[in-house]
Amino acid sequence: MKRTLIASCLCRGVKFKTSGEHRNVSNCHCIQCRKTHGSYGAYSNVKDKDIKYINKKTLKWFKSSNNAKRGFCNKCGASIFFKFKNSDNISIAAGMFNGKTGLKTMRNIFVSSKSDFYKITDKLPKYKRFSN
Ligand SMILES: [Zn+2]
Repeated sequence: MKRTLIASCLCRGVKFKTSGEHRNVSNCHCIQCRKTHGSYGAYSNVKDKDIKYINKKTLKWFKSSNNAKRGFCNKCGASIFFKFKNSDNISIAAGMFNGKTGLKTMRNIFVSSKSDFYKITDKLPKYKRFSN
């Protein structure tokens, strides 16, 4: 869905505007999302070129695997971005968007890695691992 949104972390040290096509939200239950978000991660996705930073003083990147990195705020600790190496797209933790997003959750991915303290109760498609 094409839209323009403003997003920021908890302390607003990282603040940016997104435009263009926003992918609907994937709930990712992989181990890495669990460890960085405390539970599953809910991510939208846009083209790199559709992010304009308003503030990124506290944005830091962590190489979370051989093929991906995660962007976080080194002041408030928010987990903000997920980015595959060699991709023109960037995933944004959907909770960072301010106000109404108009986005919808569309699927669950990496459900084979989810923890056992919650159940997936929605009727959305479930994928054992990644899905494009
Ligand atoms: Zn922050």
